[in-house]
Amino acid sequence: MLLPDKCSIKDKQGDRPNPPSYIVSIMHDSGEYMVGVVCEGHKGNMERRLNKMQESSKLPKGAIKFVQLRPVGTDCVANHTDNLTE
Ligand SMILES: [Zn+2]
Repeated sequence: MLLPDKCSIKDKQGDRPNPPSYIVSIMHDSGEYMVGVVCEGHKGNMERRLNKMQESSKLPKGAIKFVQLRPVGTDCVANHTDNLTE
């Protein structure tokens, strides 16, 4: 699955979106509906935005689900361990 590598929420002053921390989807009767990715700092913004869009029927109604992406730093730690064994 190909995911965007930047947060879906753009700040007004921001032209440097953060890397995403969560995949955001809506659990709907007909299945899971992926709406985007979001960074840790914009999780609340995203939820409020989706709630509004659900109220105005721009998105299907259903529970909003945040699935955490691979924790940041894991690769880095693994690489350091490899280096130490040489
Ligand atoms: Zn963000």
